[in-house]
Amino acid sequence: MYDYDLLVVGSANADLVIGVDRRPGPGETVLGSDLAVHPGGKGANQAVAAARLGARTALLARVGDDAHGRLLLDSQRAAGVDTVGVLTGGAPTGVALITVDPSGDNSIVVSPGANARLAPEDVRAAKVLLSSARVVSAQLEIPLDTVAEVVRSLADGSRFVLNPSPPAPLPAEVLAACDPLVVNEHEARVILGGSAGDAPEEWADGLLALGPRSVVVTLGAEGALVADGESAVRVPSVQVAAVDTTGAGDAFTAALAWRLGLGDDLPTAAAFAVRVGAAAVTREGAQASFPTLEETQAL
Ligand code: ATP
Repeated sequence: MYDYDLLVVGSANADLVIGVDRRPGPGETVLGSDLAVHPGGKGANQAVAAARLGARTALLARVGDDAHGRLLLDSQRAAGVDTVGVLTGGAPTGVALITVDPSGDNSIVVSPGANARLAPEDVRAAKVLLSSARVVSAQLEIPLDTVAEVVRSLADGSRFVLNPSPPAPLPAEVLAACDPLVVNEHEARVILGGSAGDAPEEWADGLLALGPRSVVVTLGAEGALVADGESAVRVPSVQVAAVDTTGAGDAFTAALAWRLGLGDDLPTAAAFAVRVGAAAVTREGAQASFPTLEETQAL
């Protein structure tokens, strides 16, 4: 009997957003809009997305002992995420400084802060939490050593889902644990290097050759491709009027991980996840855009 459907191990950031007419050059100051502060970070986003769907969810993360850390804890709790695994201190909360110009293009500076201090020993100390979850998911906004320790600490029978974002070369032991490895086009191309090819089916084949048990390639408005070495299946998206795609990948991955833990096969879980991703792009923001189960079913 598991206490949690999903344990997310990952980052928690405060996104500080200012609209600008144009970006400052070196040595220059420009005036911008009022500051907007949003909870973000791929780990925090995935946890909120899963909890909003009704998954029993916990987050293992590190935030600073500061106002941004409290904002992140509050937003997790408001969504129903168990924050028993959210550690405090060691560095300021991770921050993304985001300027948005009138065309909607972002420029982003990330200070990983406490995310970079989520250490392998924090994972070892969370053994009970890890063994209480049916599925464990991670991303790469925390140290790779910490993700590798998660893989080593997985309880027998629990499933591991990795979204390698931002993409980086992955050790064989991490790749071998992924079931699935969830990538978008950019992540697939970076991990595969020059030999990627042009078709998602080729990316899936190339990634499977690196050792994961299964691969999911997200394809934006086209949906996703799922492959497990025996078959590769396209899962089309629901057609929606996209307003803001921020966080769509996090919503997709959280939904997929939850449904896999409940026993869905990969194409069935992906068919649910594309609906969640599609619902998320119909609203502004990341966490603010994630749908409930009822909203997903109504789409
Ligand atoms: P992001 O970085 O914006 O969070 P991503 O690049 O990691 O996303 P995408 O492949 O763009 O990942 O999107 C993830 C999923 O969200 C897709 O597989 C799809 O189900 C859904 N999605 C994204 N964009 C759209 C869209 N325009 N219409 C419908 N569904 C979409």
